[in-house]
Amino acid sequence: MKVVKFGGSSLASGKQLEKVFNIVISDPERKVVVVSAPGKRYPKDTKVTDLLIECAEMCLEQREPKEQFHTLIERYAAIADEIGLSGEIISEIREDLTKRLGADKSNPERYMDLLKAFGEDNNAKLVAAFFRHKGIEASYVDPKEAGLFVSDEPGNAQVLSESYERLYALHERPGILVFPGFFGYSKEGDVYTFSRSGSDITGAILANALKADLYENFTDVDAVYAVNPNLIETPKEIKELTFREMRELSYAGFSVLHDEALVPAFRAGIPVHIKNTNNPNAHGTRIVADRDNTNGPVIGVASDEGFCSVYVSKYLMNREIGFGRKLLHILEDFGLSYEHTPSGIDDLSVILRENQLNPEKETAIIDRIKTELHADEVKFEHSLALIMVVGEGMRHNIGTMARASKALAKAKVNIEMINQGSSEVSMMFGVKEIDEVKAVKAIYDEFFAAVPV
Ligand code: ASP
Repeated sequence: MKVVKFGGSSLASGKQLEKVFNIVISDPERKVVVVSAPGKRYPKDTKVTDLLIECAEMCLEQREPKEQFHTLIERYAAIADEIGLSGEIISEIREDLTKRLGADKSNPERYMDLLKAFGEDNNAKLVAAFFRHKGIEASYVDPKEAGLFVSDEPGNAQVLSESYERLYALHERPGILVFPGFFGYSKEGDVYTFSRSGSDITGAILANALKADLYENFTDVDAVYAVNPNLIETPKEIKELTFREMRELSYAGFSVLHDEALVPAFRAGIPVHIKNTNNPNAHGTRIVADRDNTNGPVIGVASDEGFCSVYVSKYLMNREIGFGRKLLHILEDFGLSYEHTPSGIDDLSVILRENQLNPEKETAIIDRIKTELHADEVKFEHSLALIMVVGEGMRHNIGTMARASKALAKAKVNIEMINQGSSEVSMMFGVKEIDEVKAVKAIYDEFFAAVPV
């Protein structure tokens, strides 16, 4: 049995819904269909979820979202019209939106989640109605009644473990089950959403709960590419990669699949297959627990910007017990989460996401480190990008680091920092943001240019 998830662009129009229908019925094992809200039809289009957020914000400011309301209903009405559904379903959708907009606003974040969840909830109803219209047995599943319970963290809900057992009972339901992605219910019965793009998470939870053989994730690209396709023309497609490799790549900007969605699938050992709704015959990318290593040391190169480092230097730091802990404690006091801590004998750098900081905080941090830890030098370095070079094959190949750093030297990229060894499947380079693209291209060329696609 397979759980199949379709992303927003796969459900953005009636034409796309036809493709979804054909994909689902072409394989009798595709039993559970998880849907996103309608996404973009063209690059400048607005996603339904973004329209809903705008609506909620306006209502919270006591403004009437007249235009947005109309646009939202129009989005669903246009799809329904295209696939030949009657106006009845649109009346129900309108009624639901009106009800949600008028709901209790005493907790603004909870109100926001109730609005955001409208997109997937009503799309699941629409898709189920469409399948029935086509003569297929299909039903909408209400996550509350099916038992998808989540924590009460607005916009960042986590699944509660008891959900898995409850959701298993979905096996007993006949026909195709259309399940809305992106949200669940707290024990108090309120709607809470996962973080953005969270329908991927719903699909993975259901695959785990139902002990599926495969979790298929349909999106709008043929495969996960070895590098950002906006940087390199026709990059190599990755046919198969492990959960660990995918995790490392998505950390540094590979956004094909939500990184939290890997966890439920990984725990249950269920392979994930990323496929293209617009080209379902393409091979796609499989994410698996283990793979045969036939591709050389590197499977992909990713990069992300917006990092900075706090560099701390103190003579004889290596002999001082507790130095690292005290330093991290200071950062914790400022509510900062850190990414990496490369260290030397008398030096330690802590890499942080820059968006957590401001000049006042930085001055206060430097002061505390200097006075409490008696450091010789403390400074912030800004505008760093991290380049992740990822591959299981790295473990068994000699000279991967040498090749990567030589490629950077040849491209005249100065390496600010290297982190290697803490993960067996990746190495990380810190470079200045202005060198990011140059660095990624140089490393990609080194490992992939000569390899036939
Ligand atoms: N519709 C939600 C979003 O845009 C969730 C999803 O599509 O997965 O973030």
